[in-house]
Amino acid sequence: MEKNEYRVLLFYKYVHVENPEEFAAEHLAFCKETGLKGRILVGEEGINGTCSGTIEQTDAYMEHMKADPRFADIWFKIDETDGHAFKKMHVRHRPEIVNLSLPEDVNPLELTGEYLEPEQFLEQMQDENTVVLDARNDYEYDLGHFRGAIRPDIENFRDLPEWVLENKEQLEGKKILAYCTGGIRCEKFTGWLKREGFEDVAHLHGGIVSYGKDPVAKGQLWDGQCYVFDERIAVPINQVEHVVVGRDHFDGTPCERYVNCANPECNAKILCSEENEHVYMRSCSDECRVHPRNRYFVEHDLTVEEFNDRLAKIEALRLEETVS
Ligand SMILES: [Zn+2]
Repeated sequence: MEKNEYRVLLFYKYVHVENPEEFAAEHLAFCKETGLKGRILVGEEGINGTCSGTIEQTDAYMEHMKADPRFADIWFKIDETDGHAFKKMHVRHRPEIVNLSLPEDVNPLELTGEYLEPEQFLEQMQDENTVVLDARNDYEYDLGHFRGAIRPDIENFRDLPEWVLENKEQLEGKKILAYCTGGIRCEKFTGWLKREGFEDVAHLHGGIVSYGKDPVAKGQLWDGQCYVFDERIAVPINQVEHVVVGRDHFDGTPCERYVNCANPECNAKILCSEENEHVYMRSCSDECRVHPRNRYFVEHDLTVEEFNDRLAKIEALRLEETVS
């Protein structure tokens, strides 16, 4: 296969789905038969998915979806790529297609923020009386974000409402512009903001990935890359300039490469160079490095002696740092 003969599709639709469990099982069978790989969530409130396949496979999938009146107007965000971006195909039934876990759920079909097209978003984010709020997780922000956007200190989307309530003063009296990867999180989140009494609330229609493709906005004022939940991990957004904002977890140098902490009980996403991955044995902390289940130790077939040597090297590096 040549480059660009595969595609990654990103899509969602809030629409009532009767018997989502049954729908999910049938949908999985269809996806497997078509040869797609990816992750799709189905709930009574709709569908949320991302999957990869050849041009033929993704065409077949989009046609199949559009033939269903519920999904006839679903918006597929399409990226060209050079192979599958997932290893397996999952279709799962979930009570929510994005997990906000509100005590009282928000239906974005009834209540949501104003939709801003990329061009409008670009213009309004430069207005003095607006705040740009990143509705994603901290590790997504750290790889790339809109210039000057607020970074909620959260590891999970479901923690965002609590963060807002604790940091109200940053948002009050301002127009709030929220954004997320494809738009699905913002639909619910801005609905919740409005219910909480924030009046002037808008969100980026189609999310960051569409903003990067827009012929007018061209991804401008986006710094870094966009975190995506497939094997590509990072995709470029700004067509005009590329400012690296990610920083190596270990030495603070510019970095856009994510790995997972080798301690399976931690699994934190760490930005680090390939060199530092090996120096620090892909572990985010001292505790993780010496954790009995640390995968790096096994993967690299280290002897106890080699392991201790590496630990001593890290200590030496630290001493060097404190001296200089
Ligand atoms: Zn860790």
